[in-house]
Formats: sequence, C-alpha cells, structure tokens
Amino acid sequence: MRLIFEISKKGRRGSSLPGMDVPKMNAIPAGLRRTAAPALPEVTEQETVRHFTLLSRKNMGVDTNFYPLGSCTMKYNPKFHERVAALPGFADLHPLLPQLRNGGALTQGALAVIYELEQSLKKLLGFTRCTMQPLAGAHGELTGVMLIAAYHKDRKDGKRKIMLIPDSAHGTNPATATMAGFTSVTLSSDDQGNVDMTALRGLLSDEVAGLMLTCPNTVGLFDKNVKEVCDLVHEAGGLVYGDGANMNAILGRLRPGDLGFDVMHVNLHKTFSTPHGGGGPGAAPVGVNEKLVPFLPVSQVAKRSDGTYTLEYFHKDSIGYIAPFYGNFGILLRAYAYILTLGRGGLKRVSENAVISANYVRARLAPYFDQKYDRACMHECVFAGTRQAEKGVHTLDMAKALIDRGFHPPTIYFPLIVPEALMIEPTETESKEEIDSFIDALIEIAKLADSNPEEVVKCPVTTSVRRLDETKAARELDLACLE
Ligand SMILES: *Cc1c(COP(=O)(O)O)cnc(C)c1O
Repeated sequence: MRLIFEISKKGRRGSSLPGMDVPKMNAIPAGLRRTAAPALPEVTEQETVRHFTLLSRKNMGVDTNFYPLGSCTMKYNPKFHERVAALPGFADLHPLLPQLRNGGALTQGALAVIYELEQSLKKLLGFTRCTMQPLAGAHGELTGVMLIAAYHKDRKDGKRKIMLIPDSAHGTNPATATMAGFTSVTLSSDDQGNVDMTALRGLLSDEVAGLMLTCPNTVGLFDKNVKEVCDLVHEAGGLVYGDGANMNAILGRLRPGDLGFDVMHVNLHKTFSTPHGGGGPGAAPVGVNEKLVPFLPVSQVAKRSDGTYTLEYFHKDSIGYIAPFYGNFGILLRAYAYILTLGRGGLKRVSENAVISANYVRARLAPYFDQKYDRACMHECVFAGTRQAEKGVHTLDMAKALIDRGFHPPTIYFPLIVPEALMIEPTETESKEEIDSFIDALIEIAKLADSNPEEVVKCPVTTSVRRLDETKAARELDLACLE
C-alpha cells in the first residue's frame, strides 16, 4: 500500500474553497504568520477515500472480525445507541450551560440521564448510590480505594495501610492500591481458582484496609466463597472492593451489593454499549453502600421536589473532584439507552448467552487444550497452552495463527497464574456459526502444533507486517511501515 504522502502530486486537489468574501483582517500577529504553505499531501478526493478505506481494512475490529478478547469484553454494540449519543440536543451541549433558568431547560435532559442512569445502576448492582464521574476502569478503582481510605481516616483508624489483592487480579488493582497510598499484599488462590481461605485468615489483621476482589474472577470462575470472604474482611474491620469491570456474566442475575461488596466499579465501555479498546473514552461508575456515601466525589446530580434536576457540589466529607464536569457524558448516555432498550429481560439474556457461549467454547476445546481449573466457567474460559508448548508452539504462536485465519486472538498470558494462558470471551453477541468457526480454527491450529509445529511458529503470513517487537511497536508506533 502506498502512503498518502507518496500518492501526493503537486497541484492536485480534493476540494475547492470559495474566494474570500470578508475583509482581510490580519488578526494573527505578523511574527506568528506562516511564510510558506504547510506540507500537506496534495491528493484528489478519490485518492483520499481509497487511502483511508484501504487503511481501515488493515484494522481488526468487532465490526469486521470475531474478537474474543477475555477480560475486555469486545462485544458488538448496537448502532442505535450511537445514534442516541449523536442526537444534537445531547451532543452539542456545552458543559458550562446553566442548570436552571436562563437556558437551564437545555441541560435538564442531560442531568435527567445522569440521574436516571444512577437509579438503574443502583438497582442492577444493589448499591445505595453511584458516582458517574470516573473516566476508565482503573480510574473507578482509584476512586473506590480513595473512598476506602477516606472511610478509615474518618474513623481515625490510621493503621490500616494494607490492601489484599488475589494473585489472579487484573494488573490495575495493585497499581491502583499503590497509587492511593496502600501497600498491596498478594493473596493466593486455592487449587479450584477461588480465594485461598486459609491464606486469607492468615493475612487479616487490624492493619488491613480492605480487599480488592474480582467476581467472577479473572480466571472466568465464580468464587464460591465470595460471601464468606466479604464477611471475614468485614469482621476484621476492612472493606471489600469489587472489580466489576466485567458484568457480562451476572447482569440482571446477581447484585454485588447483596454479596457484601462495599464498593465496586463497572466498565460501561465493556458491558454497556460503548466499544472498548484503542484507548478510546470510557466511563466506570462506582457504586457504594451506606458506609461510603458521605465520601463520594462531587458533583452529584440530585432531583428536587419540583421534579427538576440540579448539580450538588458541596458535601463536607467528599473526596472532592476526580474528573472535570460530569464524566464522559456520551458514554453514560449510551449505557442508559442500552439499559432501556434491553430492559430487565434483555439484560438477563445477555448474561445467559454470554455464559452459555463461553461454556460451549470450553466444552468443545477441552479435548485439545489443558485447563488449570476443570469446572464450569462464567463469561470467559481460560486454557493453558502447555501441551502445545511442549512441541515448541507457544500461546503467542497460536494467537498469530488465529490472525491468519481471520480472528482476533483471545487474551494471552493473562491471568498470570495460568501458564501459557489463552483467555477466551466469546460474548453474547456472536452467532453459533461464528463461534464454531473460531473453535474449528483453534482445533486446526492445535492439530498443526502437534503434526507440523513449524507451520504455526512462522505465523502470521497474511498480514501487512509479520512479527513485531510488541513493546517497541506500542511505544514507537510507526504506521508508515505498512506494506
Ligand atoms: C478492563 C479491566 C480493568 C481496567 O479497565 P480500564 O478501563 O482499561 O482502565 C480492570 N479490571 C478488570 C478485571 C478489567 O477487565
């Protein structure tokens, strides 16, 4: 593929501007004005369209390929919610418009969306209140553990500096705890992939501020001891943080607040209709029970007795601002539209189908791949590529071979407690045919790894570039190396 600067020919144009019909003002001071034209590619509209269309085809996304990226929920997001988010009454709002009187009518609808989304999430999650402010999962975590810190500080319980984090946790958990000033201590898992209860009992003390728990955990399993874990942490004076980045398995079926979680974030950009990935905008509301309500960040949307909505900024024990204005409003809006269009029954079908799909993948692939924990999974299943590794074919090689076969690879080498991990999350939005063709491709790769390992190790062979230094490719992105 030729790059747009190489296609450029002097004098070629893709647009024609009308002549200037206003007086020349020279508003830009002489010293700041350009003396030469900018070096832009000179191309026709058709060349531009072809260039970007071809470039977009080099991309893999949910709109083009099956994308079973475990822990990240790359599911299909209904286009209808994009249209809702683009409605001019929402999309063109300025965050400084007044809330009431003098134009306030313009913002009442947006405030209503934030307020009503909070009501829906409270019901879905079983919490007393939620803040809509956090801008990403990790940001929600940081908000949540700051609330835990504020709670202990308020009780003058200054000794509590330890945050317990299971060894299966997402890497953001220990990073968050450390950023919030806690010391993170690793909690081991038992041979079933649950929290090791003996280890937990041994670690609990009056220095423990809390525990960060993911349930279903990052091995795709529901921790059967979750209630007892919460009880034990509470008895020891700590609080339990829930990493609810992925809600697909329990949506409409189970309320984390009822299990004993004190605080939890949910990634709207995984479960609730915003595409996830590529560093795009996110939103991770944080739900809390009564213990933590006084510390919630500002601003908060309140409903007055006359039915109008208003923003509250002053709460004496609040941890303060954690995001400008009202969070990522467009993402809150998509989530609200998603909840309303699916309704209670639809949300339950999401979790039902997500779990059935994952267990189907697990059952069909079980003869070909090792499993560290051989039990029914939730919304994702995790295999260990250890059998293939013995033949010199590693999980990374199989991921590359999947790209050649038209599938985005699953998450690999995470969770860390599973060797050569392959973490597959098919999601509820894929058809059985699509899931079957993915499984067939993986079975074919497993067979090839056994009979002809060199064929797998040399993949990918169909892509623009072969294997890259992945760390360097992320740090020094060079799109011009496309062939
Ligand atoms: C995705 C994810 C996060 C982090 O969310 P970001 O929006 O990427 O910051 C945290 N925990 C788990 C389990 C996740 O899957």
